[in-house]
Amino acid sequence: MIRVAEVLPKLYAVVSYGLSSNSYVIMSEPPVIVDTGLSEVTNRITELLAGKEAVVVFTHAHFDHTGGFKLLSKRIECYTVASREDGEALVKGDESRILHRFFGIREYRINIDRFVKEGSVIEAGSYRFTVLETPGHTPGSICLYDREHRILISGDTVFTGGGVGRVDFPGGSFSRLLASVRRLASLDVRVLLPGHGSIETRDGGSEIKLALMMVERIGASFF
Ligand SMILES: [Zn+2]
Repeated sequence: MIRVAEVLPKLYAVVSYGLSSNSYVIMSEPPVIVDTGLSEVTNRITELLAGKEAVVVFTHAHFDHTGGFKLLSKRIECYTVASREDGEALVKGDESRILHRFFGIREYRINIDRFVKEGSVIEAGSYRFTVLETPGHTPGSICLYDREHRILISGDTVFTGGGVGRVDFPGGSFSRLLASVRRLASLDVRVLLPGHGSIETRDGGSEIKLALMMVERIGASFF
């Protein structure tokens, strides 16, 4: 069951409950998509876009966040954005970093048009997202933070309900993840839009602090 909701003006959440990641779509000119999810989520994104060209930002290379891209790029023109670390894994089709064979796909590559880093800015209409490098779940994981609107799109670094990204895939690092979650816990966040699970629109900061407490105490990991 996939749910689509306009959580803030022109900012849509496509929330998945299966293997696929969530996706976030900002209907700016051009529209900005954060993660495509798998094809069932991509189908919902395509309905929102209605044929418009779009900027696609990947929070990291994992296939559950990027696997729908091939379908999307057949339907609309896409300009792709990722960190250098995870973006180069997508360009090379690095199975150890994308994990596409786990989903039964032999080869998978995505060309990246723009590599972003700490402090890079992604404009999306009235939203202005700053890239935060948050390694741990993968070496090149990024979050997008809009300070004015207090929105954090957190990929698989932190989730609602006390969850954080797993670190047992190639390139994962518990100590780096812990440092990244600590940093996110210091931000002023109202709307938390994670890569999996439910979203939080009122008090995202408390969800991040809960996740930090969990990971400091028991090293919890999901996704
Ligand atoms: Zn992931």
